[in-house]
Amino acid sequence: MDSIPELFGSAVFGDEEMKARLPKEIYDSLKATAESGARLREDVASVVAEKMKDWATEHGATHFTHWFQPMTNITAEKHDGFISPVKGGEGVIMRFSGKELSYGEPDASSLPNGGLRNTFEARGYTAWDPSSYAFVKDGTLYIPSVFCSYSGEALDKKTPLLRSIQALGREVSRILSLFGNASGRTATPTVGAEQEYFLIDKSLYLKRPDLVTCGRTLFGAPPTKGQELHDHYFGAIKPRVMSFMADLDKELWKLGVLAKTKHNEAAPSQHELAPIFIGANRANDHNQLTMSVMRATAEKHGLVCLLHEKPFKGVNGSGKHNNWSLLSDTGVNLFEPGETPSENAQFLLFLTAVIKAVDEHQDLLRISVASASNDHRLGANEAPPAIVSVSLGEELTEILRALEKGVTYKGRKKIQMEIGADVLPKIPKDTTDRNRTSPFAFTGNKFEFRMPGSSLSVSDPNIILNTIVADALKEFADALEGSANFNADLNDLIRREIVRHKRIIFNGDGYSREWAEEAKKRGLLNLATTADALPYFVKDENIELFKRHHVFTETELRSRYEILLENYSTSVLFEALTVLEMTRHNIIPAAEEYENELCDVIMKKSSILGEDSASLERKILKDVSDLNEKLAALMIDLQEKAERAKTLSSLEKATYCKSEVRPAMKNAREAIDALEVIVDAAFWRFPTYNDLLYSVN
Ligand code: ADP
Ligand code: MG
Repeated sequence: MDSIPELFGSAVFGDEEMKARLPKEIYDSLKATAESGARLREDVASVVAEKMKDWATEHGATHFTHWFQPMTNITAEKHDGFISPVKGGEGVIMRFSGKELSYGEPDASSLPNGGLRNTFEARGYTAWDPSSYAFVKDGTLYIPSVFCSYSGEALDKKTPLLRSIQALGREVSRILSLFGNASGRTATPTVGAEQEYFLIDKSLYLKRPDLVTCGRTLFGAPPTKGQELHDHYFGAIKPRVMSFMADLDKELWKLGVLAKTKHNEAAPSQHELAPIFIGANRANDHNQLTMSVMRATAEKHGLVCLLHEKPFKGVNGSGKHNNWSLLSDTGVNLFEPGETPSENAQFLLFLTAVIKAVDEHQDLLRISVASASNDHRLGANEAPPAIVSVSLGEELTEILRALEKGVTYKGRKKIQMEIGADVLPKIPKDTTDRNRTSPFAFTGNKFEFRMPGSSLSVSDPNIILNTIVADALKEFADALEGSANFNADLNDLIRREIVRHKRIIFNGDGYSREWAEEAKKRGLLNLATTADALPYFVKDENIELFKRHHVFTETELRSRYEILLENYSTSVLFEALTVLEMTRHNIIPAAEEYENELCDVIMKKSSILGEDSASLERKILKDVSDLNEKLAALMIDLQEKAERAKTLSSLEKATYCKSEVRPAMKNAREAIDALEVIVDAAFWRFPTYNDLLYSVN
């Protein structure tokens, strides 16, 4: 298939396909279910299943799977064949029932559940999410699904995302009706997730157990040439990478993913793919698909796609900017400053809600991107710090200031800012987009949340964004509904909220040391690591917040807290064990071999040239031998710490991993990197940064 419009979505059982294949009343009923989030009727499900199976088998599918998103950052699937024995006969027919479509029972006891299920009642169930489309990939019909426990608790990342989208829609509706529904009756969050990644040669990857086991290098001296020349960012794409990208685009287009932009990123071997934004639920599914198709396509090209946040020390890590906005049911972007005073007032109210939400819930936004891997990236001079702030651009900040003080705004167009009476000056998008160092930037008609890491599921930040903005809007709607003098009350409310929350607005350099000091003075949180951030998750007010909007029950929240703590400690301990193994099996022995070689040389030289010769070899020998001894001692320390960590309970363990295990790994790394620089390459057993970062042409 050469035509892209024909190729696009050809593997998706999308709206057009459903309309064409389903009887009208079934189609209508399905649409209504998808929109309301209600349960699918059984009679509808069986017709849909039959038609979906016909379509899928025409597209080469022999199996189906409920495709769900457990509390890992990836997806899970279990494939069942369509085959069914012919009653009374010998052959098989292809069958797919309504029940199989809408409901599955994976034996999922090995997936993370944070104590929600004991293994003796391990069954969870999956249910089709009809607001996302089924698709065929690798001979299997994929059915996007939620995953819950028998008692109905969410065990996945899709269920709370759907709940948060509903919560936000509910509160947006109340605000829109205050403004007479001119922009629509409700709205959906839209998301465009920019995906960064590294590509390296597979044969070299396989020689690095740290990459294979942990997804990142645990040691490695800096490459001779890093990203200092800025010659990789937007540079010409190498042929092998180009051919990977072309395949990737094709695969994604088939699956209906709106892959749009591709380019080289700042670090050598680093790249980015950005899609066109869509509704948050499908955007999340699509990002999961993008990550998995990226990995699979890389394999086909003899490459490996690294999605880790910090595969290499000293060059940029990978993020996943989460662009977020609100689109009304009549197609209006609610963060687009409007043309009329009323539209402007509405825009300012939504803007204020976001500012308030971010300020009041800095902890939750930080937690939404928290992982052992992202801790290496945040604040490392290529990514925003762990401090949450909002950048609005100078112009919008000035407008808010004028509003707050009740004075004339003296920008390009002078106006006395009176809400509901004035039209805002047009704010050109490029004036708001320049600050790339902000964790949360208003970029003209959307917000760009830049803290999420490349491997994260975007459901996490979006669950939080949707919920906290819903909460701010709820408070506003509670205050304004029934107001006798709407414009005056609106004015007061916005002013009051700006005064309360303006400390979160920061347009300067987020990477600078001064900002960390200034943020401290402003009383903003600076939760440097996941272990520091996680305890905030289960604070009473957060439990109440999620309950209020029916996003998480207390039990669900606590189970997630346990899972996140466990994930953090497990990742750190995995890394510690990998360092121990690589060092003891390969690094110390390699250094010893080199020591032996040096000894031989020194002896030979000395016997020929006298005792004073071979001074260089003697010096290197001394350095290698000192470092190696130091390293052996550091391994004992690291092993003791890793063992002690295992005896601790969840929060203590995470804190211990942060304050003892990671520093011990850092010390080991320093010694290893120093050795790598002086040991003869003929003895060093692992590909170096030079090899890895310049492996793809
Ligand atoms: P840049 O980051 O270079 O300014 P764009 O603004 O064009 O680039 O878009 C970056 C990402 O933001 C893209 O994935 C795009 O689809 C997404 N995006 C643009 N508008 C919206 C919106 N209203 N809601 C959500 N995402 C959006
Ligand atoms: Mg961006």
